[in-house]
Amino acid sequence: MSFDRSGVQSLMEITERPELIFLRGQGSWLEDHNGKRYLDFVQGWAVNSLGHCPPEVVRAINDQAARLINPSPAFYNQPSIDLAERLTAASCFDRVFFANSGAEANEGAIKLARKWGRLHRDGAYKIITFDHSFHGRTLATMSASGKPGWDTMFAPQVDGFPKAVYNDIESVRALVDAQTVGIMLEPVQGEGGVIPASAEFLSALRQLADERGLLLIVDEVQTGMGRTGTLFAYEQAHIQPDIMTLGKGIGGGVPLAALCAREAVACFEHGDQGGTYNGNPLMTAAGVAVFDVLTAPGFMASVNARGQQLSQGLLALSKKWGMKGERGQGLLRALVLDRGDGAAIVDAARDEAPEGMLLNAPRPNLLRFMPALNISADEMALMLSRLEAVIARVRA
Ligand code: PMP
Repeated sequence: MSFDRSGVQSLMEITERPELIFLRGQGSWLEDHNGKRYLDFVQGWAVNSLGHCPPEVVRAINDQAARLINPSPAFYNQPSIDLAERLTAASCFDRVFFANSGAEANEGAIKLARKWGRLHRDGAYKIITFDHSFHGRTLATMSASGKPGWDTMFAPQVDGFPKAVYNDIESVRALVDAQTVGIMLEPVQGEGGVIPASAEFLSALRQLADERGLLLIVDEVQTGMGRTGTLFAYEQAHIQPDIMTLGKGIGGGVPLAALCAREAVACFEHGDQGGTYNGNPLMTAAGVAVFDVLTAPGFMASVNARGQQLSQGLLALSKKWGMKGERGQGLLRALVLDRGDGAAIVDAARDEAPEGMLLNAPRPNLLRFMPALNISADEMALMLSRLEAVIARVRA
């Protein structure tokens, strides 16, 4: 089967894509239109928490599709109740609103914080966010993001997102004023280059928020649902945020996200928030299936074991090639290169024959790894040995 360039002319060009069409996937492997297989360390951008087409999720979607797809958000449906109960029981949060993307969940978090500010803080509305943060591609979430260049791309921005310096508590303190209602951050900046917030920084933020009557909002769209080795990344800092957003891994690949809040903050009134697809049983049934796998005995232990294997393997590569080490948490990790050949390594890994490998370079000098959380030790070892060979070829 050949790649037909004219066939893609009907799609809007939003990014550069290789001339490949993926036809099927299973676990950590993808197969393209030529039957070539790829070991996948992108996994739909950290979305396929259980790999491609996990049987539990396929079964849940099939069963639910045959039973009920969407009664409308004006009525209750059982899978959304089941998933909300699981999320609140496993976290410090009491209420959940389901969304269809991480950006939409974050929009909801921003609205909820502004509503809370209107009710309890005399109309305070500003949310302090961080340089190099990523919160989504809607207008408000682009404005909240600290991605260079985004402040002017679709000007004017949504007002009220002053930017502080990540892991610098004084830079946050300096921005707090009477109109500040909250602080929002990723526990690990994913798109920004896999940069973890220190536990000290997170607890200092909690303390600052308590002192000044602010909401602490964690965007766990990328870090949540087991990605960093605990169900939620905030647990590792022993803090309790007021609001959390989830996305990506929560649906195991389908469009599902969540806005979670503690009871005292869950102040939406009827009419404040909604959406035609929100909390539909087809997606939330997938979410229930994913949740039950992630929380089964031994699952998180194996995520941590694979995270350690990945960390040690990357460190060994770094030493061998004179690179700048590795960082991350759990199975969200990055190899810091000593030069800007990340894209060349990604391209070469993909184009290897007879099997390729899918990696991601969010920055020219950085490779990011976000495999399925149930990846096997053998697949991890295979990726590390192939990566070594690819680096050798690219740098020959
Ligand atoms: N927040 C974070 C931390 C993310 O990493 C992303 C996606 N990369 C988003 C929000 C946006 O999620 P979505 O693409 O599902 O809108």
